[in-house]
Amino acid sequence: MVRAGVYARISSDREGDNLAIGRQVADCEALAERRGWTVVERYVDADVSAWGGKRRPEYERLSEEIEAGLIDALVVYHADRLHRHPRELEEFMALCERLRFWKIATVSGDLDLGTHDGQLMARMLGAFARKESDDKSRRISRKHEEIAAQGRPSGGGTRPFGYESDHRTVRPAEAAIIRECAARALAGDSLRSICIDLNDRGVATVKGARWVPQTLKRMLVSGRISGQRERKGEIVAKADWEGIISPVETERLRAKLRDPARRTNRSARRYLLPRLLRCGLCNGKLYAQPRADGTRRYVCKGGPVGGCGKITIVAEPVELFTVEAVLHRLDSPEFAASLNGRRHEDGEAAGWQTEIEQADEKLAELADLWARDEISRAEWLKAADTIRQRQDVARKRLGALNRTSAIAEHVGNAEDLRRRWDGLTLSRQQQIVAAVLDHLHVGPGRPGLNRFDYTRLTPVWRA
Ligand SMILES: [Zn+2]
Repeated sequence: MVRAGVYARISSDREGDNLAIGRQVADCEALAERRGWTVVERYVDADVSAWGGKRRPEYERLSEEIEAGLIDALVVYHADRLHRHPRELEEFMALCERLRFWKIATVSGDLDLGTHDGQLMARMLGAFARKESDDKSRRISRKHEEIAAQGRPSGGGTRPFGYESDHRTVRPAEAAIIRECAARALAGDSLRSICIDLNDRGVATVKGARWVPQTLKRMLVSGRISGQRERKGEIVAKADWEGIISPVETERLRAKLRDPARRTNRSARRYLLPRLLRCGLCNGKLYAQPRADGTRRYVCKGGPVGGCGKITIVAEPVELFTVEAVLHRLDSPEFAASLNGRRHEDGEAAGWQTEIEQADEKLAELADLWARDEISRAEWLKAADTIRQRQDVARKRLGALNRTSAIAEHVGNAEDLRRRWDGLTLSRQQQIVAAVLDHLHVGPGRPGLNRFDYTRLTPVWRA
């Protein structure tokens, strides 16, 4: 049995659309019956005009009971009965996504999570809700960065080796050890041998532990011991405490001890969707072009490139949208069907590859014949044209086969891919996206809209 809840709300702010509670509930119950769901609970908020922050006790009870697993399905008259603000809808969708609570139906049919497309919308809204809360924690972390940039210690925690617990006053005996270790490391002593020596001499860490190379290395490459503040491993400011060694020594220690992968500058995050976004106005390609403050964006370039120059979209949400949509598409029955249509024999790719190579050989032969005056220029061009056309077909077929094999293992298995997504390389992510998505139209933004407007985006899937 599917246990359904019905949610109804009266709002007095919309003329002509103000259905009596009784009628809303009755229509919802009828819909539940058509779906074969049993209505076990009704939640009715007798609401109020534009409830800016006003509590809706029944809505809250509904959320709690969904969370508690007391109902399996929900029927509402219209999506805007459930939520007035997109932000609220997103939070609700995040809840549904977390609990896999997809049985939601609306009498008006505008938010039907029983369908695949409805779930895609829900997933995307959920992803945006998560993104917003990530942004919030990023703002908090930026606050820490400011403190770091001002050169103040972040405070708290164990006192650092070489300093008192105020993190500022130098402890001379430990400072001497630090200078000695720095000099030995720079002279080429291994961290291991220095640790053995310290441990033999009874020099302990601040926690009273024995030294291990990892701890020693962390201390020696820290900006702290030369009176510098760092943030995520990069030196960001001169600190307001005294150094024990010089900044130049720190620089040399870092060059010597740090793992080479970390020494390279972290390159700016690259773009997931080059060549896949199209301008909704002029159909031109969008190009990756960061704003002056470094915010990654895709833009329709005007001028010589030939675009209209009117469309700009911030990269992060559009990439988030695309990944969700692609993962969702991988699980859709239509995609599995279209892929089955292109299943191929093992030898097929090799066949197309051979055809491409043979075409190259023939083109070379033709050029040779013309060079020896055995055929006319017109004959050469005509024959070459035919060969190139066949070669193009072979290239396209081969490309399609390669795309298919790039994603074959993920079809119908998107949950697993979603978990692994962030660990994939950018080029692998691009390969998967391009195997599913032909391109994505980006429409114009609506002025004054503060939140990301996913209705601007229209994916065009590969058939
Ligand atoms: Zn354009």
